[in-house]
Amino acid sequence: MAVRKTLKSAYQVEEKKPQKWGVSTANYNTQRWRDYKKRYIQYRLSLGQTTCDICKKDFGFKSRMIKGQMIKYLEREIDHVNPISLGGEMYDYDNLQQLCHVCHTRKTSKEIKERQ
Ligand SMILES: [Zn+2]
Repeated sequence: MAVRKTLKSAYQVEEKKPQKWGVSTANYNTQRWRDYKKRYIQYRLSLGQTTCDICKKDFGFKSRMIKGQMIKYLEREIDHVNPISLGGEMYDYDNLQQLCHVCHTRKTSKEIKERQ
């Protein structure tokens, strides 16, 4: 019995490691994802959809200094409806939504809380 318990604990530690921070383990830092996201944004624009999918507000503008120049950009964030960490599809338009920063932050922190 004792041996069995040890084995089980070791297994659980292994399993939990990649999800240490409660955030999805998906790799967003790839050219493929950046391109996909860009295409999705273009697709939503082509449908004339320029509002947040949750609060339905127009995206605001944010500015950021890039190489000494003030660049204005839309505060639009792409989110997975069903998180990758819960088995959601990464490359599927049906599993994507565009959110404002407030809604995205709220949804993400809710997901992390629910997982704990
Ligand atoms: Zn919103």
